[in-house]
Amino acid sequence: MFESCRVDAGRVRALASELSTPAADLDDQERIELIRALEELKCMSEAAQAVVSADFDASQRADQASRGVPRARQGRGVAEQIALARRESPHRGRQHLGLANILRHELPHTMTAFAAGRITEWKVTLVARETACLSLEDRRRVDAELAGNPERIEAMGDGELVAEARRLAYELDAASFVERRRKAESDRRVALRPAPDVMSQLSALLPVKDGVEVYAVLTREADRRRASGDPRSRGQIMADTLVQRVLSGDPFATGTDPDVMVNLVVSDAVLWGDSDEAGHVQGYGPVPADLAREMAGTVGAWLRRLYVRPETGSLVAMDSAARQVPAKLGQLFRLRDQVCRTPWCDAPIRHNDHVTPAIDGGETSEPNGQGLCEACNYAKEAAGWTARPRPGPRHTVETTTPTGHSYESTSPPLTSPRFVETRPGVWTLRASLALKERIDAPTAHHPTAHPRVAKAEYQVRGVNSGHDRVAHSPRMSGCLAAVPT
Ligand SMILES: [Zn+2]
Repeated sequence: MFESCRVDAGRVRALASELSTPAADLDDQERIELIRALEELKCMSEAAQAVVSADFDASQRADQASRGVPRARQGRGVAEQIALARRESPHRGRQHLGLANILRHELPHTMTAFAAGRITEWKVTLVARETACLSLEDRRRVDAELAGNPERIEAMGDGELVAEARRLAYELDAASFVERRRKAESDRRVALRPAPDVMSQLSALLPVKDGVEVYAVLTREADRRRASGDPRSRGQIMADTLVQRVLSGDPFATGTDPDVMVNLVVSDAVLWGDSDEAGHVQGYGPVPADLAREMAGTVGAWLRRLYVRPETGSLVAMDSAARQVPAKLGQLFRLRDQVCRTPWCDAPIRHNDHVTPAIDGGETSEPNGQGLCEACNYAKEAAGWTARPRPGPRHTVETTTPTGHSYESTSPPLTSPRFVETRPGVWTLRASLALKERIDAPTAHHPTAHPRVAKAEYQVRGVNSGHDRVAHSPRMSGCLAAVPT
């Protein structure tokens, strides 16, 4: 029924160019009709993407099989190519491909409604999600019941659709609900996302019992403190109590766990107060300069030199003939790349990767290295993928997929020199000649250190310099003297 798609990219682009200049002389009734027609087209486009993705998957797997790729490794790298084409993360690529295959093989009625432009990709995802624990036979029954009449599923709201799918699934197979809960509990996790106004959203997906209990403890503590005259709001007390208990285990203590690692990347100009360029906290993202200075000033520190020739970024001391990426070089990839280098991925770096594999003569060096997440590294190792470093203003890698499409990834901009906190109280200095010269010859513009920097200097002064030759000077220049010139 959906075995192939009859259009190609050229025809779709021709249509898209027409759409980019919609007729201006519409009345309001026509405008609403156009909005509906475009909505249907959007759904149909997504359905067509699903059909083509499933075709692509089947074709790539057949190709891999014909080349002798073991069955267990067939399909590797396919979702990642779809993700690159859709300009989304590999994780989303796997979701899209998984959904496409489920629609093709297990939810034909839902697919029909989708391809007719009657339901959105999100609704389709809800049907797939709510029937995931059922046997194929039961799943097809729910599919027929829900979407056999396309007008009915089209008229349903998201909440109504979920409730109806759950009811049908429960009636068909109550045991799957038990299984589903067990599986859902194994998915428990904690995530951190940036929130507006330099806040962060820490969320936890928990079994209902744990979630309710944690919330009850926080509520009780807030009520108790409010009753004893605490002026903070209920929400503030709950948030503060959560942080204090997690970080210290002691509800009355403040401060952070000394063993926790927080990586802050910030340029010297920011510390000096000369620049309001953003800093970068690993695992969170950019932070404004004033917050970066505040963080820099509130940690004890020792100092370690990372670069021998920082002005060129050359890692003379770190280049290695060993295939295994040395720890220091791996640390550099994490600091330089910040997140997985695959375009649109954003996942944390888990693997230090040779861009050109060591087996093909790739060096273990900064230019030939990149940080990748686990999934992207496995995808890159699949047959037909190649990558090479490319010249660029910053570190650039060109990855070519088995279909011959190329994607470039450039490391994020970070001004040099910079200080890097590699764990609380552990600072890594990446200094340049420019900075050293400026400190050696203070100008009228910089007669003394900026007060905020003085604070950072104080922290640096109390260093444990066991890892490097660090002059114990009250001025930052003393520390920079450790950098050989
Ligand atoms: Zn990745």
